[in-house]
Amino acid sequence: MKLQTEVLVIGGGATGAGILRDLSLRGIPSLLIEKGDFLSGASGRNHGLFHSGGRYVVSDPEAARECIVENRILRKIAPHCIEETDGLFVSLPEDGLDFRNRFIQACEEAALPALLLLREEALSLEPGLNPDLLSAVKVPDGAIDPFELVLANAKDAEVYGAGYLLHAEITSLVVDGDRVKTVLAKDLLHGEEYLIEASYLINATGAWADQLLKLAGLHIAMALSKGSMLITNQRLTHRVINRCRPPSDGDIVVPNHTVSILGTTSVRLEDAENFEVTPREVSLLIQETSKMIPAIEETRFIRAYAGIRPLFQSGEKGDDRAISRGFVLIDHEKRDGIKNLITITGGKLVTYRLMAEKTSDLLCRKMGVDVSCTTHLKPLPGAEKPSGLKDRLKTLGKVETLCDCELVRREEVEEALREGKLKNLQDILHRTRLAKGTCQGGFCVYRLLGMLNEWELAEGDSNKILKGFLEERWKGIRPVLWESTVKEEELMEGIYKGIFNL
Ligand SMILES: Cc1cc2nc3c(=O)[nH]c(=O)nc-3n(C[C@H](O)[C@H](O)[C@H](O)COP(=O)(O)OP(=O)(O)OC[C@H]3O[C@@H](n4cnc5c(N)ncnc54)[C@H](O)[C@@H]3O)c2cc1C
Repeated sequence: MKLQTEVLVIGGGATGAGILRDLSLRGIPSLLIEKGDFLSGASGRNHGLFHSGGRYVVSDPEAARECIVENRILRKIAPHCIEETDGLFVSLPEDGLDFRNRFIQACEEAALPALLLLREEALSLEPGLNPDLLSAVKVPDGAIDPFELVLANAKDAEVYGAGYLLHAEITSLVVDGDRVKTVLAKDLLHGEEYLIEASYLINATGAWADQLLKLAGLHIAMALSKGSMLITNQRLTHRVINRCRPPSDGDIVVPNHTVSILGTTSVRLEDAENFEVTPREVSLLIQETSKMIPAIEETRFIRAYAGIRPLFQSGEKGDDRAISRGFVLIDHEKRDGIKNLITITGGKLVTYRLMAEKTSDLLCRKMGVDVSCTTHLKPLPGAEKPSGLKDRLKTLGKVETLCDCELVRREEVEEALREGKLKNLQDILHRTRLAKGTCQGGFCVYRLLGMLNEWELAEGDSNKILKGFLEERWKGIRPVLWESTVKEEELMEGIYKGIFNL
């Protein structure tokens, strides 16, 4: 099939979806192609920390400044995706106070509001903290829901005329002279081939940026850094808890909806596709984070997962934690003589809007178009009526609930199905909180499949779909399988083997 567009955006993470929205608000026709569903890459595999900039303020002040500026903008345009929890940087006796003093000084220089709390003040805010702590510094960190954020960007872009094609991978970029002339993509579910004609291409493939450029015979130096995280079965603190020391393994706990997320590690990888959370990482995360919150040692975990940081290597090779968390915008006309190709990579979820703005500005200059960015002013869809767990609790018992852990209502799923374009079970899980709670879908996914059958949307054999889901689920549960989680898994095994004969 032939497709034609002015701008082709490759990659459906926060950056790609943000660019699609920015361009469509400027009236520039664009099409996004993503090889999985939206959020298949790092955008769907991070802590959900709504950075204040505190984590980088000492080591990478430029990235910290970008975070605090965007933090303020996103509070206005995406309040429904953010929980304003605040964050504490906690100093333990073994950390001393040198780093804390540098931290407070750096916050001042970056105009990042920071308030020093004495031990007792910190403990009265967060009684679960290690009682031996020396002090804590309060900053405007928070929690962000990447799924809501990215999907709201895509939705708005569509309203303003953009298109997107999911589950389609770019497989070939044919360069002719000083331009990428022809693009080929393949539908990964049905095998269909697309021939795409685009005047301009934006490579927003995050950790895959170099892999995509290779199709055009180009290369950039990327360090692929795996970070692993653990999810607890309940929320441990009200606020984000960071360790007040230079960035290291196991130094953050982020509250997110009904759970907390423990992070993270940094392990260099060669491959952005095949990776897993190792037992060593699980032990390290528990050991380090429990120094800040001792109850973590006894906590039950419901899942482990990992994501790949798209880090751009500008200088010498060294510790991945020392590579800037800022973003890099490459005009391949200047770098490689290819006039219609731009790459944007690196950065943070929280700086996605700024990355999209800078990319769209560059593209406009290349196109000779003079339209300004408005994404910092225009709220995202859903911002007008934020709703959360409290709203869902109010409807409990009044409407049919599909997922009991996260209180996902049947009508929410029906709404997602009515919007269409969903091609598989995972697409639905990305659009609701179904299967994200304590049982990790064990008790609700078969209800969902029943519903898909009613709607005649379960393509193929339902048991095969269920098996695929369970295999994915198992990858996340296996690393945290001890004590009560083992008991629950035995119950799940009973259900799926006994009732569904899987
Ligand atoms: C462990 C970890 C923790 C993090 N924690 C935080 C945090 O708490 N807060 C924060 O702000 N940031 C955090 N980040 C950083 C943040 O997640 C990323 O910077 C951000 O999500 C990158 O978004 P992106 O759109 O650039 O890339 P991605 O989200 O990776 O999107 C790239 C997309 O391109 C697609 N793609 C690749 N190749 C092709 C192709 N050939 N054809 C079509 N599609 C293709 C991929 O499938 C993918 O969906 C974290 C990152 C990691 C790894």
